[in-house]
Amino acid sequence: MTLRTLEDLGDVDGARVFVRADLNVPMRDGILSDDSRISATVPTLQELLGRGAHLVCASHLGRPHGRVREEMRMAPVGERLGQLLGREVVTVNSPSPDPDDLPEADVVLLENLRFDPGEEADDPSFAGRLAELADAYVDDAFGAAHRRHASVSALPELLLASGRAAVAGRLLEREVQVLGRLLADPDRPYVAILGGAKVSDKLSVIDALLERVDALLIGGAMAFTFIAAGGGKVGTSLVEPDRYGDVLATAEKAERLGVPITLPTDVVAAAAMDVSAPPRTVAADSIPDELIGLDIGPATVHAFAEVIAGAKTVLWNGPMGVFEIGAFAAGTNGVATAVADSDAFTVVGGGDSLSAVKHAGLEDRFDHLSTGGGASLEFLEGHTLPGIAILED
Ligand code: ADP
Ligand code: MG
Repeated sequence: MTLRTLEDLGDVDGARVFVRADLNVPMRDGILSDDSRISATVPTLQELLGRGAHLVCASHLGRPHGRVREEMRMAPVGERLGQLLGREVVTVNSPSPDPDDLPEADVVLLENLRFDPGEEADDPSFAGRLAELADAYVDDAFGAAHRRHASVSALPELLLASGRAAVAGRLLEREVQVLGRLLADPDRPYVAILGGAKVSDKLSVIDALLERVDALLIGGAMAFTFIAAGGGKVGTSLVEPDRYGDVLATAEKAERLGVPITLPTDVVAAAAMDVSAPPRTVAADSIPDELIGLDIGPATVHAFAEVIAGAKTVLWNGPMGVFEIGAFAAGTNGVATAVADSDAFTVVGGGDSLSAVKHAGLEDRFDHLSTGGGASLEFLEGHTLPGIAILED
């Protein structure tokens, strides 16, 4: 399978190219707190503009559930996109305007695709209206590639059926190239570090990774479900007792495959998850009853760093603790630094993990920051993603 890319698009001088981007940025009261998803797609847009194309860009934003939500309009995104491109971006207020109503501009941004229920329903008639806006189609929305939604599924299908091109943009191309390498041919040792809040979100990726990695490091709240299932005392730490059976089966599978799973040996715990709670470092499997584990401890950071230093490939997804609170951020920052310092090929994914890396100022020292949260994990599990399959020959 090979992905069709901008090289396969042909001549687009004067053509109208529909670009499905992932501009789903965090926004509150019309203010964007992080525009990295917008800047990540800019190279694709610049390249197309350089080839003389007129762009019709589209994305979803938030979860409006098929109706218009004022606070989820695309206009602030369009404004920021215009600044990043250094040219005018006209945002229209319909997700599927009549082609005759499209403004005369090099870059038009459609309204939030999810304002129309047809988007999430993969509705062919909604896709048909979008198809009228496109001489050709470029998908750069890796973050939406795991969804069978109209703009990434029915739309390219329709266009291909009518002889129009549907290809991947540069961002999607790079994601598939990098994550594909982790899936098929990683340099070894390959070490995965997983963390975050809920083990249930990531059990299937842990299971799939066990078949590919040489070592697995587990931190974050999800470690407590492993420790508790093994009989440790975890105080009031976040655990998912209905998953004890699953994590024990995972631990058994790891043993069978000879893949060591390293859990925290010490944790930073406090009486409550807030700024005022004085933190204490305690053994991870004998946390006092009244304390909640909120970060991995220094001995664990040290042990994780040693494994990371010996790796040739590192994948990291999920913070090691409640990094949003300074007192519980040392574990996440320590692991981020260890990964940044390693000579390995390093990939980080997950919205919170990325923000931790940026907060620590280490984003330039990773080889790849994956823009897709759920999409990256599904890809790394070896699933076929609908938004990618349609772009392959
Ligand atoms: P990502 O977005 O990188 O995939 P997740 O969304 O899975 O990461 O998890 C991030 C969240 O996990 C953060 O909000 C963090 O505060 C939380 N978390 C990490 N460790 C703990 C812990 N020990 N107790 C409670 N929450 C935790
Ligand atoms: Mg998250």
